[in-house]
Amino acid sequence: MTKLSIISPCYNERQSLRPLHAEIAETLDRAGIDWEWIVVDDHSSDGSFEVIAELSRSDPRVRGIRLSGNFGSHMAMFCGLDFASGECAAVLTADLEDPPSVLVELVKKWTEGYKVVWASRNERQRAGWLHNLMARAYYLILRRVIAIRQMPRNGADLFLIDRTALELVRGYRDRNISVFSLVGWLDFPHTTVSFEKRKRQFGSSKWSLGRRAKLFIDTITGFSHFPIRAMSIIGASCAALGFLYAIYVTIEYMIVQVPPGWTSIAVLVLVLGGLQMLMLGVLGEYFARMLDEVRPRPRYIIERMSSTLARPIADDVLLLTPRQRRDEPVPAGKSSVMADEPGE
Ligand code: UDP
Ligand code: MG
Repeated sequence: MTKLSIISPCYNERQSLRPLHAEIAETLDRAGIDWEWIVVDDHSSDGSFEVIAELSRSDPRVRGIRLSGNFGSHMAMFCGLDFASGECAAVLTADLEDPPSVLVELVKKWTEGYKVVWASRNERQRAGWLHNLMARAYYLILRRVIAIRQMPRNGADLFLIDRTALELVRGYRDRNISVFSLVGWLDFPHTTVSFEKRKRQFGSSKWSLGRRAKLFIDTITGFSHFPIRAMSIIGASCAALGFLYAIYVTIEYMIVQVPPGWTSIAVLVLVLGGLQMLMLGVLGEYFARMLDEVRPRPRYIIERMSSTLARPIADDVLLLTPRQRRDEPVPAGKSSVMADEPGE
């Protein structure tokens, strides 16, 4: 029987976890799919991990990992993929917005031979023209500028990847990267299914405008040097125009009386100064990410994890010992399925 690893990043989703588990079990068991559910708690403060630990005690197919800080949902997904043991793996958000029934569709397409199966919501159902416009622009840039052509037109909400693609994804150890863009960029044979995204039942979206902007910049800097090239082109054009203008004003100086010309100078200084600052900012985005990559820091840090998860993990992953943990200790006897010692 096919084994599917379901990866769910989870940040303060305590109320959704039990109903989601029940729905996953019901839907996938009925479809005859063998599964494991790896829930990566991105350092929730609402007790989500206690619920995950409880669920994994009653159902060993549920595996929990708690990260030592809020690393963001993409790093949480990368972490889950590191531990996935299935023949294929799919991501599913933990907020009940994505119905587990779509997993059955994804597996069906995978059995037809596709290595990557995207799930895309029927329409951009979320509120607001600004949000829609930004989402469209984001996916257009992704496909046209950064050449991630396999990204569905309306974007993707979930994906399933085959084991071969999974192994490849695990090889990319970048720290600032979108998991969706990486999967799209690897360009395996792919297809897309559409589904009806549900409304959030509990809590609210954790994705602020700042986080979305960072993901956007991560996606560009992660796969493209276009902004740096654009800077060179703009810089060269400005220099050429400046040179021509210099010739013009020199000739003008020699032939006619020159007016003061404050306005043109002020405009030029402001425009060129602004352009230079913007370009420095673009360089800064690349440099900051380069710095992240050259620092020998762990990619993510695990505070606790289920003992049912395989232990050998990549060199750039740190697993804290009980004494290194900063959160409240779990009362004795309550965490029997959560390993206390690395190598336990
Ligand atoms: N999430 C996470 N870490 C974060 C923010 C979000 O693991 O720092 C999880 C969240 O619990 C959810 C998924 O990522 O399962 C998608 O987040 P959310 O629903 O807030 O985003 P939206 O659906 O609004 O894009
Ligand atoms: Mg959501």
